[in-house]
Parts: sequence; C-alpha cells; structure tokens
Amino acid sequence: MAIQDIGIVGWRGMVGSVLLERMRAERDLEGLEATFYSTSQVGGAGPDIGKAGARPLADAYDVNALARHDCILTCQGGDYTKQVLPALRERGWQGYWIDAASAKRMDDDSVIVLDPVNRAVIDRAIESGIKNYIGGNCTVSLMLLALGGLFAEDLIEWMTCMTYQAASGGGAKHMRELVAQMGMLGEKSRDLMDGGDSGILELDRRVSQVLRSDALPTEHFGVPLAASLIPWIDRGMDAGDTREEWKAFAEGNKILGRSDRPIPIDSICVRVGAMRCHSQAFTIKLRRDVPLADVEALIAGHNDWARLVRNDKESTLAELSPAAVSGTLGIPVGRVRKLRLGPDYLGAFTVGDQLLWGAAEPLRRTLNILRGAGA
Ligand code: NAP
Repeated sequence: MAIQDIGIVGWRGMVGSVLLERMRAERDLEGLEATFYSTSQVGGAGPDIGKAGARPLADAYDVNALARHDCILTCQGGDYTKQVLPALRERGWQGYWIDAASAKRMDDDSVIVLDPVNRAVIDRAIESGIKNYIGGNCTVSLMLLALGGLFAEDLIEWMTCMTYQAASGGGAKHMRELVAQMGMLGEKSRDLMDGGDSGILELDRRVSQVLRSDALPTEHFGVPLAASLIPWIDRGMDAGDTREEWKAFAEGNKILGRSDRPIPIDSICVRVGAMRCHSQAFTIKLRRDVPLADVEALIAGHNDWARLVRNDKESTLAELSPAAVSGTLGIPVGRVRKLRLGPDYLGAFTVGDQLLWGAAEPLRRTLNILRGAGA
C-alpha cells in the first residue's frame, strides 16, 4: 500500500519535537499530505512544515478523521495507543501505525523497528502484511546498534548491561527538574563556594542537607537525582528486575528476530544526572575467543553510526561521554577489552543520544521504508 497521506500525533512532546526536527532536516514529508493532531489543543496552530504554512490542529481522538490516512505516526504515549488503535482497527482501518510508545511492542501483530539491525525482520513483516511498526526502548536500541556487529555474527552467548540513563528518559518535566535540583544545590552552597577555600566537609554537609530537605524539587523523580542517582526505572517485575531491565532481554531478542532462542541479557538500569544521553557498560560472554582486533572491526563495520573509541584516557574523555555525544547520531563504543574472567569475555562502554537513535530516528526511517524509499 502506497503512503500518500499521513496523520501525525504527539509531535509537540519531547520525542515528537526531536522527530519533527529530524523529518524537516531530512525532508521526509516531501510528497506527503500531512495532518497534525493534538489531544489538548484542537484548533490551535500546527507546526509550519513549509507547505501552506501552519494549519489548525485536528482532534487526535477523532477516529473518523484518523481513518482517512494511509499511515499514522504517533509519539503521544501508550494510553493514547491503547485507546485509539483498537477503535481504528475495529472499524476496518488497514493503514500503517508507527508508534514510539511501548504499548504494542511485544504484541504478535507488531514489529519493533531498528532497521540497521533488523531490516530483514521489517521487510518480512511488510511482506506478510503486518501494519504496526513500533520504536524500541531507547536503551535497547542503543545497545543493539553499538554491538550490532557482534549480534550479526551470533558471537554473544550472554551479556549484562549496566546502564547510566539520562533524565530525558522520563520526559521534559524530568529534565527540568534535574536542572532545578542542580540550580538549588549551587544556590544554597554559593556562600561556601564564594568564600574561597572553605572546609570541604562543610560544603559536603551543606549539599547533603539540601538533598535531604523538603525544599529540593522532587515532584517528578520523587527523590534527588542531582548529586545522586536512582537505581530503579519503571515498575518492578516478578523476577526482581525492573521493567526497564526486562526490556533488554525481551525487546532485544524480539528485534533480533530470535525470541524463540533468546540470548540471556541481564541489566541493572540506573538513572543518573545526564540530560539526554544514555550510557551503558557491557560484560559480554563471547561464544568463542575472538581476537580483539576482529571484535573492534565487527563493531565499527556494522553500521554507519557505531564508532570505535580508542581505549585510552584521552580518547575516552574526549569522545565517550554524554557531554560529547548529546544531540548527535553517533554511537561511540569504547573501553573495549578482554576481561580477566577469560579470553572469551569482553568489556565495553557506549553512549548514545536516547532521543535520536533511542526514539525518533527509527520511526522516521520506518516511514521511509514503508514508503518504499529506503531508510
Ligand atoms: P511528552 O513529552 O510527555 O509528550 C507527550 C504529549 O504530551 C505531547 O504530544 C502533548 O500532546 C502533551 N503535552 C502536554 N503538555 C505539553 C507540553 N508542555 N509540551 C509538550 N507536550 C505536551 O512524552 P515523550 O517523552 O515525548 O514520550 C512520548 C512517547 O514516546 C511515550 O510513550 C514514551 O514512552 C515514548 N518514548 C519516550 C522516550 C523518551 O526518551 N522520552 C523514548 C522512547 C519512547 P498534545 O499536543 O496532544 O497535548
């Protein structure tokens, strides 16, 4: 089915804004009739995508209007998906549904999209008439892109991911809260900082005092993140892991098209005070002793974004941090080395922008694949 007409929902949220920015930059909407929707601002001004100027926003709950599109691209969230998609399908809508939310990821009638890693899975799904194409969890997509070369050669027997996840994973309000917490810590300790070489213990006590006081803004995280961390993301699962940790195993293997013979992947996912880059440390059990140079070549050669960082201090500090990577599509992979555990054990560290490859990029590329234009 050719896509000529698209409905876009959730475009002003955090993922949606990044997505629209990328679609503008890559001219993805050229040749497409696009209608923008809102759940809260119907009739307000839509984004100007350079055609007839901004047009009024349509009602994102108007199933009849939505059903006129060949494709709907949504970054609105899981509750919206659960409410609107079944209603559309019930009335016989056969269009493509491209979605950032997790609600439909594990359903049998959906594919999780990450085309540099699972283009064959996507192509088979299009061929077999699948209509739902869902972006993966940000950490999982970034992990698979970073290690795509090793997965493609089926070299990973099992692995662990220790994550250092940015505030942006929680949404725009969480990013603001992190900065507000940092601001308050700076403000409340300014007299001690300005006073020159005040005692470090006094400064430390002051910061701890502020972290534990009711004055610190914690409405969204529930606890301090600045000058601290949170080793729990999403809800708990029966096995003692969190849902975020479970996704690396469940989604990761589904993306790879091997849910029937899954690779064991275990994680501990931790929120840290980064703005929008997720970082991950991997311990990988290889199926055999692969020379380090071959491992490096496989990682660097798999896709256009994974990039090897030399395992030295200078390169690591310059290239392997959220500060260096934020806002870019590159996925540096560094600290690659064999571990003392044995020659078939590998350590590595990666950083990626969780709003670009972690959220928006797979969606816009999927639209292009479905249009038959390649990614
Ligand atoms: P978000 O920023 O909270 O935006 C979602 C919607 O909230 C917007 O489309 C907008 O809808 C409404 N909204 C209300 N007040 C707003 C405001 N002041 N500014 C902007 N939008 C406002 O959500 P998100 O983080 O983009 O996530 C969207 C979906 O993507 C979720 O299902 C999430 O799980 C998934 N996802 C998120 C990430 C991530 O890193 N955050 C990564 C991968 C997937 P109306 O215009 O209709 O009011």
